[in-house]
Amino acid sequence: MFDKILIANRGEIALRVIRACREMGIRSVAVHSTADADAMHVRMADETICIGPAPGTDSYLSIPAIIAACEVTGAQAIHPGYGFLSENARFVQALEDHGLTFIGPSAEHIRTMGDKITAKETAANLGIPVVPGSTGGVGSVEEAKKIGADFGYPVIIKATAGGGGRGMKVAASEAEMESAFLTARAEGKAAFGNDEVYIEKYLQKPRHIEIQVFGDGQGGGVHLGERDCSLQRRHQKVFEEAPGPSISPEERARIGKICADAIAKMGYSGAGTIEFLYEDGEFYFIEMNTRLQVEHPVTEAIFGQDLVREQILVASGNKLSFSQDELEINGHAIEVRINAERLPNFSPSPGKITQYHAPGGLGVRMDSALYDGYKIPPYYDSLIGKLIVHGRDRTEALARLNRALGELIVDGVDTTVPLFHALLREKDVHTGDYNIHWLEKWLEAGG
Ligand code: ADP
Repeated sequence: MFDKILIANRGEIALRVIRACREMGIRSVAVHSTADADAMHVRMADETICIGPAPGTDSYLSIPAIIAACEVTGAQAIHPGYGFLSENARFVQALEDHGLTFIGPSAEHIRTMGDKITAKETAANLGIPVVPGSTGGVGSVEEAKKIGADFGYPVIIKATAGGGGRGMKVAASEAEMESAFLTARAEGKAAFGNDEVYIEKYLQKPRHIEIQVFGDGQGGGVHLGERDCSLQRRHQKVFEEAPGPSISPEERARIGKICADAIAKMGYSGAGTIEFLYEDGEFYFIEMNTRLQVEHPVTEAIFGQDLVREQILVASGNKLSFSQDELEINGHAIEVRINAERLPNFSPSPGKITQYHAPGGLGVRMDSALYDGYKIPPYYDSLIGKLIVHGRDRTEALARLNRALGELIVDGVDTTVPLFHALLREKDVHTGDYNIHWLEKWLEAGG
């Protein structure tokens, strides 16, 4: 086992990793930018090291600075969290070259899944159902129109390098194809330096269902059920739950087994998430994320497993510590993402926290790096906390969420808390009757 792990991240996820390290008796190293000298992850870690100025590109995304920090502190392994360098194959390769262990999958698996076209091809070859669409990249408007005619409109044109909801355009008819195709291409080029695009049938009312998988790189692969993340704004998740209210135990077992078998066959190592759209009882693969997800705590809650601990165990060469048969669902969990944002436009709201009080009590977990007097810097993501509740069933989890949101105090900045209070007044949220478009439509209608 490692003696010392460096966490190449900040905020709540850095704390999450420090907590797992401490329980395992492993020393933790926090890296930070100059803007984060007073951040909670710096206060909580065993050792700290400044790796550069405020902008992420000069600090948390600087591969040389992070490798140098490992050398200075003697850390043997790096946990990347999510975002930043967590899905950067070049980073993983550089660590390997320096004899450092990346807590995550191989550079090759990250590369394959980071390109959505090769990811989809790989998934299809492993027997995972995919969204009908073009075979590989689409090079011209003429070709795009031919595919649109074959599959029938609407279709979605997606940048193969896309992420974070960028580089996607819907064409409702052939008349819209040219402009949608050229825009998706231009966005891919501008945001990711890659203008390759592909085309998929646009599903009209799907839910977003993702399967948590784990592999040990030694032929072992399991799934930990699904999360439903259908409540999205601009393709970004805001409310996540497990299990999915629309998924039956039989469906879970069937799609879960397909995913677990695929992971075992690939020789995949560590945590991963296979994302699907789910419509009329069918699953359609859209992408795979080769890292820990923001919403992993809902899975931890219902399975009673520590996914970060498992990542560390697997990275240090252990086999999976649980078998599929040992994984049993207990109750229902919901997570809401608390962002420092001003409603109704969700514009960033950085600044000083004048008062912070975290909710508590039975079945409540608050993952946050906030404290009284903390100044949220304007340079990074607006996520400031994740409130996770666990109950015996969905009704109890919703009641607990309502109760915990009422206890939470975050003064000094605007947050997305009022959004969740409003959502909890909606009948559809209580019945679980929504698809990926519900939240956008509800916001457009004035919330
Ligand atoms: P990103 O990598 O940018 O997150 P994804 O491929 O994961 O992109 O898609 C993000 C979201 O976009 C999905 O959760 C869904 O809301 C929407 N989406 C993607 N593909 C389709 C499709 N074929 N039909 C309908 N909606 C889609």
